[in-house]
Amino acid sequence: MNDDAPPPRGSGNAAEPRTVLVIEDEQKIRAIVRDALCEPADRWFDAGTGGEGLAIAVAEHPDLIVLDLGLPDMDGLDVCRRLRALTSAPIVVLSARHTEESKVALLDAGADDYVTKPFGSIELQARVRAQLRRARMPTGPATDQPLVIGDLTVDIHRRTVTRGEASVHLTPTEWALLVALVTNPGRTLTHDQLFSAVWGKSYGQPQQYLRVYITHLRKKIEAEPYAPRFIITEPGVGYRFEVDR
Ligand code: CA
Repeated sequence: MNDDAPPPRGSGNAAEPRTVLVIEDEQKIRAIVRDALCEPADRWFDAGTGGEGLAIAVAEHPDLIVLDLGLPDMDGLDVCRRLRALTSAPIVVLSARHTEESKVALLDAGADDYVTKPFGSIELQARVRAQLRRARMPTGPATDQPLVIGDLTVDIHRRTVTRGEASVHLTPTEWALLVALVTNPGRTLTHDQLFSAVWGKSYGQPQQYLRVYITHLRKKIEAEPYAPRFIITEPGVGYRFEVDR
């Protein structure tokens, strides 16, 4: 662990001091992450093992966690699950694994996003910024502020959807699917996560079910259902509600 101040950086939003935890055994990669992300005001914690990372997460309540999957003492997925049980802070995973299955496993374990090694500073900054922005968004089933993205307005409180001036009529299933997506803006939800959110427990072939309902939903809310702007497909992984484009 070290907390000496890094050189000032011009990037990002330096307004609010953040507590950042980086769990990675390779010192070289810790330095790259720090160089890419650290703002002068940040409180910065490094952990070289999963055990140390979990202890720091409990003690310091980080606002952001960057987690490497290849750790000497514990399975990275297990660390991710345990962190998710402790905190709602964004967890961005550094992973050398490329397969769709491993991405699904990561997201199911509670990771918010993943960056595949080797990664560039710009990519890491963009991913982390998106997660921090999402973490600050006043969304969630309890919100009474309508969510406005482009010409689409979703009012969860009143259970209404409008596109431009026209109101959109959704079936209860389509509504449940849309709520699951819009309350996790910018975050990829796996097929299992979405299926569980809409139908309860996951079983059977969630991917096929979802494809049908996503298609219906896109026809109702997207200007161009086959070139969607809002509901983005992550092939083999799941779907993401895009708010930034
Ligand atoms: Ca490692």
